[in-house]
Amino acid sequence: MKPPEPIPSECELGFAEDRSAQLDWSCCGRSYQAKIWSAVNTQLTPELCRLFLEGNLNSVCCPICGIPVALRHPVLYTDVERRLMVWVYDSSFSEDPLQGRAAVPSPGFELISAGDFERARFALKQLDDSIVFQQLRAEQPRWSDAKIHATIFQLHFAASER
Ligand SMILES: [Zn+2]
Repeated sequence: MKPPEPIPSECELGFAEDRSAQLDWSCCGRSYQAKIWSAVNTQLTPELCRLFLEGNLNSVCCPICGIPVALRHPVLYTDVERRLMVWVYDSSFSEDPLQGRAAVPSPGFELISAGDFERARFALKQLDDSIVFQQLRAEQPRWSDAKIHATIFQLHFAASER
């Protein structure tokens, strides 16, 4: 069976082969290595997307104290159906993955970044907002659906600012 075609920009970003990475973390005075996910995709890895939206992706438990730790490594979330790619990162922990990069999204895809995990999860769950979609479609008849979805994400991301 032929493997699913990787999305070109994910290839360019280095995640087509291995969507995971090793990360060092520490707790109870000791450091550990964990395998973490750097990219999730609604078609290729729907289960990882579900974990991400629940806030349970890249969570590890300290072997000594048992306390769960959320590793705040950037994750590229690709919503294939909506042609939207979002680099989600923690702006207090790491730099914008898109900064200084010539990252070109796949044809028809929009590529954006969002510097807060919690707010990004909230915004990703609002992409079904058909009322805002119809409003934007009426205002911007030339925009692609992908651009409208990116804008819906950004509106909800901005509105959720604490
Ligand atoms: Zn611990």
